[in-house]
Amino acid sequence: MRRLREVMAENLDAQARLDKIVRHIAANMVAEVCSVYVLRSDEVLELFATQGLNPTSVHEASLRVGQGLVGTIAATARTLNLEDAQTHPAFRYLPETGEEIFHSFLGVPILRSGRVLGVLVVQNEAERAYRDDEVEALETTAMVLAELIAAGELEGLDKQGAGLDLSRPLNLRGASLADGIGMGQVILHEPRVVVTNLFNEDADYETRRLHDSLSNLRFSIDDMLRNQDVARDGEHREVLESYRMFAHDRGWVRRMEEQVRNGLTAEAAVEKVQSDNRARMMRSPDPYFRERLNDFDDLAYRLLRELVGKPHGPVAERGKSDYVVVARHMGAAELLDYNGPQLRGLVLEEGAPTSHVVIVARALGIPVVGQVNDALSYADSGNRIIVDGEEGSVFLRPTDEVRDAYGEKMLFRAKRQEAYIRLKDQPAVSSDGQPVSLLMNAGLLMDLPNVKNSGAAGIGLFRTELQFMVSSRFPRAGEQEQLYREVLDAADGKPVTFRTIDIGGDKVLPYLRGEHEENPALGWRAIRLSLDRPGLMRAQLRALLKAAAGRHLRVMLPMITEVREVLLVRQIIDRELELLARFGYQAPDRFELGAMLEVPSLLFQLDDIMRAVDFVSVGSNDLFQFIFASDRGNARIARRYDQLNRAFLRVLRQIQQAAERHGKSLTLCGEMAGRPLTALALLGLGYRSISMAGASLGPVKAMLLETDIGKLETELLAEIAKPYGGQTIREFLLDFADANGIPY
Ligand code: PEP
Ligand code: MG
Repeated sequence: MRRLREVMAENLDAQARLDKIVRHIAANMVAEVCSVYVLRSDEVLELFATQGLNPTSVHEASLRVGQGLVGTIAATARTLNLEDAQTHPAFRYLPETGEEIFHSFLGVPILRSGRVLGVLVVQNEAERAYRDDEVEALETTAMVLAELIAAGELEGLDKQGAGLDLSRPLNLRGASLADGIGMGQVILHEPRVVVTNLFNEDADYETRRLHDSLSNLRFSIDDMLRNQDVARDGEHREVLESYRMFAHDRGWVRRMEEQVRNGLTAEAAVEKVQSDNRARMMRSPDPYFRERLNDFDDLAYRLLRELVGKPHGPVAERGKSDYVVVARHMGAAELLDYNGPQLRGLVLEEGAPTSHVVIVARALGIPVVGQVNDALSYADSGNRIIVDGEEGSVFLRPTDEVRDAYGEKMLFRAKRQEAYIRLKDQPAVSSDGQPVSLLMNAGLLMDLPNVKNSGAAGIGLFRTELQFMVSSRFPRAGEQEQLYREVLDAADGKPVTFRTIDIGGDKVLPYLRGEHEENPALGWRAIRLSLDRPGLMRAQLRALLKAAAGRHLRVMLPMITEVREVLLVRQIIDRELELLARFGYQAPDRFELGAMLEVPSLLFQLDDIMRAVDFVSVGSNDLFQFIFASDRGNARIARRYDQLNRAFLRVLRQIQQAAERHGKSLTLCGEMAGRPLTALALLGLGYRSISMAGASLGPVKAMLLETDIGKLETELLAEIAKPYGGQTIREFLLDFADANGIPY
């Protein structure tokens, strides 16, 4: 450690420093070979320095990530310790290096903030297993090398190297998840703390710092546990309790103390011990340990933040300027924590178009670009950023030219927005005179002004669970009633369809304890949960009935799977109405009960369900997910199937026909209602009522005004009936729109 520190302090260029370090390691570990492979931006690991292999192979020998032992270490970010490397299945012989005489092999990843920058290897001719303390030493050296590589001074590595030059402008591509353009400064959701100061000057001082931070950490966990917002039981409390247990874990503390005694700073010790923990826990066959890994990571991360004096949580980072949140993934409730007039956009490494965080972002009117690989590594807190939700593009640290261009684009969009606003009072009628009801989806108080401003015909879907999700405990009956009353007031006589809580799946309440479920989307959610917790359901229905005294009330049930479920709810409602009357409350003057059509089983009982309800609403997000067995929140398959698939459109047509046969009103309130092209398909299928995010009303109305529905219907129905050809009719719709001057 001392030698390493000296080499780092010497006045050498980066390559010379690297050469010197490999010589020292080889000598120190009595290894015939020590080599450093650096990851280039093209995912190739290039030999950058070696002691013991053929010197002419430096900058010549290379491997792809995943290829050979070195590539395997880079791909898995895990250490490999092998007595005889040549018998390992991943072994790959590089002739230019002359390594055929070496048998034992120890390779460790060079990591910085969890990102692989390269691989450090020692080899010996004899077959030997490297001892734990040797592995430790090599891993610590890799931390030093990470700093050296990250400094970006190595020749031949284009500066962004492994993407670490955080000053260069960068354009990242992703999927467009919510329309709009936003500019601001980056706030990293759960940012990594990058430890740059590795060696301590004074071990006692560092040990004290470590202990001080540990006790702050323990206090903060106790504080959280005392906080009355944490329900008495529930998952959240359980997690905190396991944090408390870990934070007092003697073994953990002892290992960090040892690292400090070995010469690391407190921060470096936390990081080192955490990466050891991670490696150990990932290898554990016990799923409990693997699951606890995230908790442990989070705890170590909190300790690091204590050490560097950065407070936790989103609020602390907000300044006065506009900001864009960059995250790997995020829950809908977490996004609401960031909400405010300066929130301008969201960038996700994951995310899919119908995931709830995206739906909430759309409701907030902020652009979202998802599936942006490594966004968190490229972005740094405070960087300028532009999020283009229209193109699915993100500009980090944009040049003046890009900023100017976006200034223009925003101006253009503002003009278009003005045009939409002018449309708001125009009747929603197609060019051939057919009226269509364009409704708005909502769920929070802040949506309400838009009911008026956007010219919506009413609220087609009010997601009541959002109030539950943003609250830290079950909202009291009085609070629910108050919200529902305000919603009805804001709608000012226009119809509002309240959906009873749709909890479960990806919509979790931290204070509701549930059993762990293998498939939460198919699990104890929505109406299933409500029927099993009749107290909860009664309280909500009562709040709705009271709030709608003397007015029109529409209640809709999510995830109905069989008709019986509707009948059970009707019984509860009848009883509630009786009770209200008995206690002298005024009832709604009109009451309608509807079902969401989002579980495929209902497709085979369409006539029965139509008889049992007053109206139906298609939840196309879930219906599509279940019909195509394709998780709506999974980024990897998000683009695999198209909602404009013929099979899906045939299903939607069948539903429309059944509703017509029974004279029941029909709405569709999934995300496909909010995009002009998919909404166009719905018009062609006979849908005359669709509900969407407020921001979509303008573009969809602009489309409607130019559409000759009669003509569209004839052509589209013929198109989906075709027995052959590509599965999606997107091309057909694009051609139809272009040929008829329909904006989309
Ligand atoms: C749907 O599933 O299409 C729907 C509208 O409900 P949610 O997106 O809230 O599940
Ligand atoms: Mg749904």
